[in-house]
Amino acid sequence: MADGLAVRTTTVVIGAGHGGLAMSRCLSERAIDHVVLERSEVANSWRTERWDSLRLLTPNWQCRLPGYEYAGADPDGFMTMPEVVEFISGYAKHIAAPVQTGTTVTCVSRTDDGYRVATDNGEWQCETVVLASGAFNLPAIPAFASAVPTSVATITPNEYRNPDSLPDGGVLVVGASATGVQIAHELQRAGRQVTLSVGEHVRGPRVYRGRDIQWWMEASGVLGERYDEVDDIARARGVPSMQLAGTPERATFDLNALTALGVTLVGRFAGIRDGRAQFSGSLRNKCELADLKLGRLLNLIDEWATESGLDDETPPPHRFEPTVVPAPSILGLDLTNGSIGSILWATGFRPDYSWLDVDVLDGKGFVRHDGGGVDSPGMYIIGMPFLRRRKSSFIDGAREDAEDLAAELATYVDRRRSRGD
Ligand SMILES: Cc1cc2nc3c(=O)[nH]c(=O)nc-3n(C[C@H](O)[C@H](O)[C@H](O)COP(=O)(O)OP(=O)(O)OC[C@H]3O[C@@H](n4cnc5c(N)ncnc54)[C@H](O)[C@@H]3O)c2cc1C
Repeated sequence: MADGLAVRTTTVVIGAGHGGLAMSRCLSERAIDHVVLERSEVANSWRTERWDSLRLLTPNWQCRLPGYEYAGADPDGFMTMPEVVEFISGYAKHIAAPVQTGTTVTCVSRTDDGYRVATDNGEWQCETVVLASGAFNLPAIPAFASAVPTSVATITPNEYRNPDSLPDGGVLVVGASATGVQIAHELQRAGRQVTLSVGEHVRGPRVYRGRDIQWWMEASGVLGERYDEVDDIARARGVPSMQLAGTPERATFDLNALTALGVTLVGRFAGIRDGRAQFSGSLRNKCELADLKLGRLLNLIDEWATESGLDDETPPPHRFEPTVVPAPSILGLDLTNGSIGSILWATGFRPDYSWLDVDVLDGKGFVRHDGGGVDSPGMYIIGMPFLRRRKSSFIDGAREDAEDLAAELATYVDRRRSRGD
């Protein structure tokens, strides 16, 4: 590429994870000229930002992308990280995606006729842009983390690889969603004394009435619920991930399972004063709420099973033991006496748009969009939680989202061209 000359294309897709690749496939089907720019390699997040023992929490049969799906011998199993990388890399080859790897987008800005995409490896001018750079690029850590005494190591899930990543001593894992419960489980089993700080969480059994919970949620329509069907989409987009893990034993990773292993539960980490961690007294309420919501989900599943005539072929409905909450509650923990050697912040993730020079971010740093159509003409986003459907941030969610968004993008391009813009 000649210096200073921007390459012209209809669409630039930023990011070659499964989201960007699914978009690429749908754009190719519509003969829309495009390039996928990737700062590293295809499936970079799975190669570099996950811990060693992680497996998908979604079953293999749920690994479906436009024109491609899991075809192995273990549809009910859960992929390891190398298997996910192979699956996504295989997809890129299968669809002959026009990916340019080793190309970091450094700035996206508006021009008179679309967008200018600057990178460390050339520049593009395009009519439309697809942000597929991921929802979970950076750890979301509370501001009071800076008050952690220097004698205590801190680490984020993106940095954590295995129990050896942490110095000796007890570990305070903060956050009890999928990431927090999985890492707490691994550390406790490795002989660490784990304290798990629990705020709002979503409880889920791995298996219910003989079938995987993901099967029930998909079949009953929960995962396919659309963004314009829920009462409060902003709230729905912020709901934490379900406490699930994909293990060969199909184990349930709820708080009772962790307590049985020896993990100590405390409430939400509220702050640090004089080197002392302070925990909210709301643990019981949070657990009761999670139990209640699990009950509602199972009611919905049971009703659907009855309506669908499945009651004769599946075991009968049942309910799980309520979450056992320690009494009395532990409201504080001395971080200076050596009992806690490290803190792992499993407090969520956020996207990184430090390179986006278009006024589309809300006050919290998230892109303003309506079902993936960004608040800037010709810009689209994929891979965000509940983008168009509850399953949008899952691999499986990209299938329908990419098809919908590619159709919207194509309409936008056609209209623009028919107006002679
Ligand atoms: C810990 C964890 C576990 C998960 N488990 C599951 C699971 O079990 N099942 C499931 O279905 N989903 C799971 N997900 C959710 C989801 O599938 C992943 O987050 C997935 O990686 C999202 O795909 P994506 O294509 O939207 O983004 P990513 O895979 O993050 O891809 C974005 C790509 O954009 C590139 N990029 C970013 N910025 C730039 C830039 N400026 N220039 C160029 N390239 C850039 C990145 O290098 C990356 O390759 C999990 C997520 C996390 C964090």
